[in-house]
Amino acid sequence: MTNNESTKEDMHVWTSKYADKAGYMLNPDDESLHLVLEGLARNRNKHGKNYCPCRIVTGDDQEDKKIICPCIYHKDEISNDGSCHCDLFFKKKD
Ligand code: SF4
Repeated sequence: MTNNESTKEDMHVWTSKYADKAGYMLNPDDESLHLVLEGLARNRNKHGKNYCPCRIVTGDDQEDKKIICPCIYHKDEISNDGSCHCDLFFKKKD
């Protein structure tokens, strides 16, 4: 691994912080969570941005901006379905 490579641990750090700040929680299922974090790290290393691992990167910067995690869709998805499309962020259970 080169020094500049992002790892899934890096992704875990910022997604945890974001979840705390936004009042969400991360997927409680470790295996699913790690798959998404790995996908984010892969996109970060390949494309230079945290593109959503479960959406298509088109190559059009304007379009792809919408799917930089946390994407423009996640708030609606979480409020409607309880989690975002990738099952990364979840509505907190009280
Ligand atoms: S669906 Fe979830 S993981 Fe994918 S970009 Fe949106 S917030 Fe991030």
